[in-house]
Amino acid sequence: MFENLSERLSGVFDRLTKQGALSEDDVKTALREVRVALLEADVSLPVARDFVKAVQEKATGQAVTKSITPGQQVVKIVHDELVHVLKGDGEPDDLKIDNAPAPILMVGLQGSGKTTTTGKLAKRLKEKAGKKVLMASLDIYRPAAMQQLAVLGTQIGVDTLPIVAGESAVQIAKRAKQQATLGGYDVYMLDTAGRLHIDETLMQEVEDVRNAVNPRETLLVVDGLTGQVAVEVAEEFDGKIGISGVVLTRMDGDGRGGAALSMRAVTGKPIKFVGLGEKMDALEAFEPDRIAGRILGMGDIVALVEKAQETIEAEQAERMMKRFQKGQFNMNDLRMQLEQMIKMGGMEGIMGMMPGMGKMAKQVQDAGFDDKILRHQIALIQSMTKRERANPGLLQASRKKRIAAGAGLQVSDLNKLLKMHRQMSDMMKKMGKGGMLKQAMKGMF
Ligand code: GDP
Repeated sequence: MFENLSERLSGVFDRLTKQGALSEDDVKTALREVRVALLEADVSLPVARDFVKAVQEKATGQAVTKSITPGQQVVKIVHDELVHVLKGDGEPDDLKIDNAPAPILMVGLQGSGKTTTTGKLAKRLKEKAGKKVLMASLDIYRPAAMQQLAVLGTQIGVDTLPIVAGESAVQIAKRAKQQATLGGYDVYMLDTAGRLHIDETLMQEVEDVRNAVNPRETLLVVDGLTGQVAVEVAEEFDGKIGISGVVLTRMDGDGRGGAALSMRAVTGKPIKFVGLGEKMDALEAFEPDRIAGRILGMGDIVALVEKAQETIEAEQAERMMKRFQKGQFNMNDLRMQLEQMIKMGGMEGIMGMMPGMGKMAKQVQDAGFDDKILRHQIALIQSMTKRERANPGLLQASRKKRIAAGAGLQVSDLNKLLKMHRQMSDMMKKMGKGGMLKQAMKGMF
């Protein structure tokens, strides 16, 4: 499915993981190659750019242990970012087909594989989910298309709505709904007519059908081989009629695969299935973790790094605590704390857990402190030089200006960060002396 991209990426990472030590330049070069590989796979430019940027940010300043090489670490970061691009931040993308009979509207351009996919999905619902499915073709312009669905139905043992000449698409949809209700079907699938290009009549017809049956799922079928065009088609359909998900067909071909990677990021809509051939069982659920694994083909490394990561975190916490007890608390520590806070549900949550910080948590909340601010603060710290991070005392006016500008923020934002650092540092010192620190940090890591 992603052979070319996969080959390109494994080439890049094979070289990287073999090296014992990595310079920033090594990572940069590798990421440049990743970017080119993504673009060649027809991933849209902004998505490729954001991808590489996110990996770069995560790769710098990552702690590593002896058990893994920095290259392996980068592979893991790339893997996680791939999953993120494919999955987005949303919920799992199962089909919503409760409340029988649930209508599924199949839309897309002619030749995208819509009718084939309707059959494949019906077969899957019947066999995997034990659903009773009815299919209906709404393609009143091409009797052959109606016939095609009927033939598929017979082939896979799924009922199709009897063809009645002279009905409109909406009339057929209503008849399907009626038959599905009377016949005790769990799902009825409406295979709408496609056109070679998006046109008003087509959209209006689909809209009318949508309004008539109020589908639980509106799945857009697009040809994965068309790359970025597939993403553009999805944007148009989503804008005009609203889709709930995408089925990418022809992913069995040499397929550059870019559509799969751009789809979620550009349209915000999940890919729910991929078509992998002409046969009726050539349909797979789209599982971002598995797909990312397939693209990278480096599952072993990912698992290895995941394991090592747990060790790193424990070691980090231990080291940090020792430093705090000695009254050392620099900007790198603060950054780690901020990242931890984001992971643990934000500032209030974490401060509320620390003895003596309850009041501060309240202030933080009152000040409208949220993850965005935490991220800004991290950006400010990232904008500092190594020396500045180790010794925030160095920060005079000109340095402050440069740092704030580097993070796209104001000097006043930086001042707030520095004040917070001082306060936390004082607090750590006090707690370190009283032995309260260990207590307080217990819940944090
Ligand atoms: P529609 O006009 O959108 O309904 O398209 P069809 O369902 O008739 O499909 C058009 C052609 O694409 C047919 O020859 C299908 O067998 C083929 N096709 C559909 N899905 C896939 C797929 O995932 N992989 C491959 N290789 N061919 C497919």
